[in-house]
Amino acid sequence: MEKTEQIIQRLKDRIQQVDWEFNDLETGTVFSVGDGIVFVRGLRDVLSGELVRFEDDTLGMALNLEENQVGIIVLGDDTNIKEDDSVYRTNHIVQTNVGDNLAGRVVDALGMPIDEAGELVVADQYPAERRAPTVMMRRSVDQPLFTGIKIIDSMIPIGKGQRELIIGDRQTGKTAIGINTIINQKGQNVKCVYVAIGQKASTVAQVVETLRQNGAMDYTVVVNSPADDSAAMQYMAPYTGCAIAEYWMDQGEDVLVIYDDLSKHAVAYRTISLLLKRPSGREAYPGDVFYLHSRLLERAAQLNERYGDGSITALPIIETQLGDISSYITTNVISITDGQLFLDSNAFNSGRRPAVDSGLSVSRVGSSAQTQAMKHVSASLKLELATYYELLSFAQYSSDVDEETQRIIDHGARLTELLKQGATTYLSHDLVILSLFMNRYKYIDELEVKDIRPFESFVHDQFKQNHQDLLAEINAEYKLDEQLIEKLKTVFEQLVKDYKVNTYGR
Ligand code: ATP
Ligand code: MG
Repeated sequence: MEKTEQIIQRLKDRIQQVDWEFNDLETGTVFSVGDGIVFVRGLRDVLSGELVRFEDDTLGMALNLEENQVGIIVLGDDTNIKEDDSVYRTNHIVQTNVGDNLAGRVVDALGMPIDEAGELVVADQYPAERRAPTVMMRRSVDQPLFTGIKIIDSMIPIGKGQRELIIGDRQTGKTAIGINTIINQKGQNVKCVYVAIGQKASTVAQVVETLRQNGAMDYTVVVNSPADDSAAMQYMAPYTGCAIAEYWMDQGEDVLVIYDDLSKHAVAYRTISLLLKRPSGREAYPGDVFYLHSRLLERAAQLNERYGDGSITALPIIETQLGDISSYITTNVISITDGQLFLDSNAFNSGRRPAVDSGLSVSRVGSSAQTQAMKHVSASLKLELATYYELLSFAQYSSDVDEETQRIIDHGARLTELLKQGATTYLSHDLVILSLFMNRYKYIDELEVKDIRPFESFVHDQFKQNHQDLLAEINAEYKLDEQLIEKLKTVFEQLVKDYKVNTYGR
């Protein structure tokens, strides 16, 4: 009988004799192509995530490094790639164009312009994937990012560097919240990146048009990987968007990034993984799907002074089915972010828009960045609303409610009305404070529900026309002291009187 060593030696000899057909380190040969996935023999030195080039100059990214083949996703069109074509290493990882000139542009998932605005002169190239800033590079979130959305800035405030998830069923105003937040960055020195993943091209065109009409494209770049893009491109889009933001963060600027949406991103990644024949797990997602989003969202940060004080605030969007927030991808992203804005489809359909559910929504870090004035006028809001909804459901079943209950319900109805606002309203922080001031000091209780929003516009107009000095005082530090509160009260009392005379004749 042969000894073990002899067997091993014999096998080694046999291996030595094998004429490795594909032992090229730098180039490879395509042996199968389809669905945007190419398997290649050779390329034995290629790195995971490395950019490769095909014969027809199409680019690809090496994702699967296996023993005798490399799995590559094609970044673009795979129709011109044939079997036996050569593939070359580039020694680069996927990069994107970055720089100030990207503002106002629409680019694809690799940062190449796809709008009609001509050539793009770029400042630099940034890797699409980069390590997130370390703990030592960060400082805590303490600067507010004003969304201009009353219900958010008052109860679920967002700070610069925070990651806040927008979550809700389809057609509940998720995109609208992102877009409205971008519109409200006008004049705030915040650059914006809107990443559209797997959406209809017409929807994205609409978004770009809305941003343009509101003068928000001047400081915004749209990264678009529409539904007819390959899964590989949709997979790359958010990383590219993040890299574009990172350039500005490195320059010490504040950036807001919206990923619309990560549900579709996860699906694109699942498609790639299945085509690469990776083992599938829960809901057929690959085992590393958590890492897909954690490495993306960890790149949002508030850098400290030593690193230039820049920030990236991320608002990822997730679409739920029938309000189910316990599904796989949803729970993953909830656990990665610093809070969530939960959108309620019933509220949305009954006209309560934006449909942010104040009970289920949380912001874990933003309150330390909330302004003193906003804290003052909104401290009791969550409780007021919770009490209102509770009593409302009771009152539905009983005809006579006591006076106190009725008072709370009446107030709640007015507050709910006050928190409504359109999908593209620009509202500066001082005006948001004024709006909530009229709830805090109960001026809305003197009006009928239908008059709340007209009254609000009336107040805003009056302040802008006749009380610029008071607005300036609010804007100075967003601080309401006793004196300022008294001054505001005096004005409000007069305004309520005027408004009542004008509309009710008394
Ligand atoms: P989808 O699931 O299709 O992506 P979505 O959740 O992103 O939808 P939006 O596209 O933002 O929802 O909004 C759906 C519709 O509701 C749009 O026509 C939008 O204009 C309208 N809408 C959103 N928010 C408001 C609002 N606050 N006031 C009035 N209309 C709104
Ligand atoms: Mg949407």
